[in-house]
Amino acid sequence: MKISGNTVASIHYTLKNSRGEILDSSVGAEPLEYLHGAGNIIPGLESELAGKSTGDKLEVKVEPKLAYGERHDEMVQNVPIAHFEGIEDLQVGMRFRAQSDIGEQLITIVGIQDNEVTVDGNHPLAGETLYFSVEVVGLREATATEIEHGHIHHGGCGHNH
Ligand code: ZN
Repeated sequence: MKISGNTVASIHYTLKNSRGEILDSSVGAEPLEYLHGAGNIIPGLESELAGKSTGDKLEVKVEPKLAYGERHDEMVQNVPIAHFEGIEDLQVGMRFRAQSDIGEQLITIVGIQDNEVTVDGNHPLAGETLYFSVEVVGLREATATEIEHGHIHHGGCGHNH
């Protein structure tokens, strides 16, 4: 069996940035299970996994445009501190979901002044070239419901939509 559309693949992965720092890893925890071909993982990784089989290992370098996109300086903005009224202990590094013109967006606080807060709407990994070490550890056919929903369902864990 090979990874193709409507395959559920389980992978172990370690993600590093261009400086060799580990950003995320599934090693030592549960593997990541995903429905292939449904856009549930970044495009630059998904395309490299097509046609792979259980036991295959691969090193994948993903440019920003096939990962989390380029950084956009205009997505760093100052907003009145009043927008954060009611949030105790506002700190640099805090993340919030915010409504914007392009839908829900994750923003990160990057600066706090007297009356204003500087927020960054870029994805934290925007502009980063990503390096994945991946091992395929399992494959199965997706169920009809998973294909319909465009994501995997874990057996027996009460998924009910
Ligand atoms: Zn579902």
